[in-house]
Amino acid sequence: MNNVDLSILSRREFIAGAASAAAAAAFTPRLLFAESKGIVPTMIDDAASATIKTHPLRRNISVLEGSGGNIGVLTGKDGKLLVDSGFTVSKARILEALNSLSSEPIVQLLNTHWHTDHTDGNAWVHAAGAKITAHVNTKKHLSTSTRVEGWDWTFPPAPAGAIPAVAFDDEHRLQHNATNIRLKYYGPAHTDSDVSLVFEEADIIHVGDTWWNGIYPFIDYSTGGSIDGTIRATEQNLHVITDKTIVIPGHGPIGDKAGLTEFRDMLGTIRNNVAMLKKQGKSLSETVAAKPTTAYDAKYGHFLITPAFFTALVYSGV
Ligand SMILES: [Zn+2]
Repeated sequence: MNNVDLSILSRREFIAGAASAAAAAAFTPRLLFAESKGIVPTMIDDAASATIKTHPLRRNISVLEGSGGNIGVLTGKDGKLLVDSGFTVSKARILEALNSLSSEPIVQLLNTHWHTDHTDGNAWVHAAGAKITAHVNTKKHLSTSTRVEGWDWTFPPAPAGAIPAVAFDDEHRLQHNATNIRLKYYGPAHTDSDVSLVFEEADIIHVGDTWWNGIYPFIDYSTGGSIDGTIRATEQNLHVITDKTIVIPGHGPIGDKAGLTEFRDMLGTIRNNVAMLKKQGKSLSETVAAKPTTAYDAKYGHFLITPAFFTALVYSGV
């Protein structure tokens, strides 16, 4: 893999090679947000003002949408189990949504991966009574200072209460509220810490940030992610679900096998388009100018990860 450090693409390169200033400005978060505040503060500010929407899915499982990644909730007499904790700025509104579902306390928190939009709330959820479980690499990244070049951001170690108490390598099972839950490590995918969570009786899977439904995904090369790892994780997801399975993506609306199949095809097509251009010797600027994502931009290009930025993320990994 020929890895491009997204943070150090020089202004000279993008001016020399860009088809337009607009396309060039979108190469990196640093340039994309040169006149504004950056991706991480943007996500936090969005969460600070967002309404938390509650989506009941099947049996006793719901999703809260609006604070970073999609938060799964399993209610019942054993107490609430959460999947991911969103941003701390949303605490009051998340609690309000949780209390509207049922009155039990929060006792378990499972993290899909280490990223801040899924774990920033860990400390308060732990203080509220939850035991935290995650992959060993989530524990590792939360325990130390961790840099994400694609976000141009260095995270300090998380507070002690935010660190998972239970960390597993490959697979972990638990039973909670009469539900069998299976956590499975993907291997390196969107990061090196991603796990899927299957709620067996309900036939629901939370796939974390291996799926962004209807939007181009971020891929975190700084902590082990890659385009090929993301495609592999998507294949694994498709392998374990049926047409009846409810699929909770890390970001975007609740989906199903058809939507995930379309996402897989989008990833594969763009990967091949970008790989072909790179093989022809095209620079990143020339590759972006060739618009290898164009067939998908109307549908997928409207969120934080723009077509040019997604092209750069793919280019880094092919
Ligand atoms: Zn993520």
